[in-house]
Amino acid sequence: MSLKMYNTATRQKEEFKSITPGEVKMYVCGPTVYNYLHIGNFRGAIFFNLVRNWLERAGYKVTYVYNYTDVDDKIIKKANEEGVESIEISERYIKEFENDFNRLGLTKHEHNPKVTDFMPEIISFVDDLVKKGMAYVIDGEVFYEIKNFPNYGKLSGKNLEDLEAGARVEVDSKKHNPADFVLWKPAKPDEPYWDSPWGKGRPGWHIECSAMIQSILGETIDIHGGGIDLKFPHHENEIAQGEGRTGKCYCNHWMHNDFLNMNDEKMSKSLGNIITGRDFMEKYHPEILKFLMLSNHYRALFNVNDEKISGVLSGLSRIYGALREAKTIFGEDSSFQAEADKGLIDLCNSMDLKIEESLNDDFNTPEVMAHIFEVVRHFNGLELFKKKRNQQNKATCHYFFSWVVNHGQLMALFNDDPATFLSEMDEILLREKKIDVAEVENLIAKRKEARDQKDFNQADAIRDQLNQMGIIIMDGVSGRGWEVDKK
Ligand code: AMP
Ligand code: ZN
Repeated sequence: MSLKMYNTATRQKEEFKSITPGEVKMYVCGPTVYNYLHIGNFRGAIFFNLVRNWLERAGYKVTYVYNYTDVDDKIIKKANEEGVESIEISERYIKEFENDFNRLGLTKHEHNPKVTDFMPEIISFVDDLVKKGMAYVIDGEVFYEIKNFPNYGKLSGKNLEDLEAGARVEVDSKKHNPADFVLWKPAKPDEPYWDSPWGKGRPGWHIECSAMIQSILGETIDIHGGGIDLKFPHHENEIAQGEGRTGKCYCNHWMHNDFLNMNDEKMSKSLGNIITGRDFMEKYHPEILKFLMLSNHYRALFNVNDEKISGVLSGLSRIYGALREAKTIFGEDSSFQAEADKGLIDLCNSMDLKIEESLNDDFNTPEVMAHIFEVVRHFNGLELFKKKRNQQNKATCHYFFSWVVNHGQLMALFNDDPATFLSEMDEILLREKKIDVAEVENLIAKRKEARDQKDFNQADAIRDQLNQMGIIIMDGVSGRGWEVDKK
């Protein structure tokens, strides 16, 4: 397999080669746990889940580390507001994040280290940098000495002079150079602290990732990921720390996902347009969140609005509608005395290759979705629900169902029970479109009465009335005999 991925460090797509054959070590910067995560924060988690699954399908043993930042100003601030210890805040929101993560059905990471569990490693890392002359201590504060790391700025394409000029605005007279950054800082009163060779204090933000990476994964890792905003300064500083300590390459492939905007604006508290992953999943559905993210390329800025959400709802319903139909036809059977439809098998085989090509081309998920829709279109075109439920038709349905579910697993999609999923979509649409269920049920009963009395004109008129309300009559596959139109 030749997997190409865009490397932020070289600004081009490169063939992926792991350091150790058959193994991948990857790290993605995880959340600062002081609140519920908003849907933008989940873009990375959902995308890098696909990366790990795809590498595993390619035969790699993947070790994926996703950290929790549980020492941070925002956590301390929230703890002070609530009058509790900061560990109470961080543990609470780690649990909430894990709830959301499980609800999304993403593959568990091999490690979820917390900063508070890595203090000795962080301190010894900073100590190494000081001893090597890559860092200096002033009044209990430790700074990284950027001028001693000539490669500084390589990842983000910035040069030191520009950085110095930019940083001069907020001159900190203690630093040798305005662009030097903090590795260890003394604790202020009422802040959590740890003993260190430089006094009681706590680590700067950047050092935690380097320390956890080198402790858990080693000196050089295969893939480092995160949101695009982390490229500078966070990841630039991680490289300076890691390479400053070992003299070896810190990471071979840098992957950054772009941002997610809400109604053309950056999501931010001040704009009041933040929606948490939790609220989104309550209001809509985990599948909608995942499909929304993956129907766009991870390196493209992506704007979410109501229209996109309803487009995703209808696209997902098409796929799940076909799955429900297939499942209704093959029923409980799993082996058949006939082959599936030859045309479907041929199409699936060719789409397998195309999906592989798309994923190997820097994870082109919009193309993957298009290939899946092509198979769904073909399956729908067979109109098997109008035909005999014989062995061949059942085999075709089973083949189709397994094909979609199997590809879906890569992206943590299409694995819900189809009938349940579609009725959940009904609930969303009934609420959004303010359709009165009692009125619908009443009309359905009247239509049945008319049919029983062989008054077909009246029955058709009622059906048209229901259609206008956005209700379609579905005898057979939908439990209650009707559902909301999802097109
Ligand atoms: P924050 O809580 O703002 O520190 O965000 C945590 C991480 O989530 C950031 O470092 C970003 O990489 C990512 N992130 C924040 N906002 C967005 C967004 N709107 N779209 C995508 N990723 C985001
Ligand atoms: Zn990080």
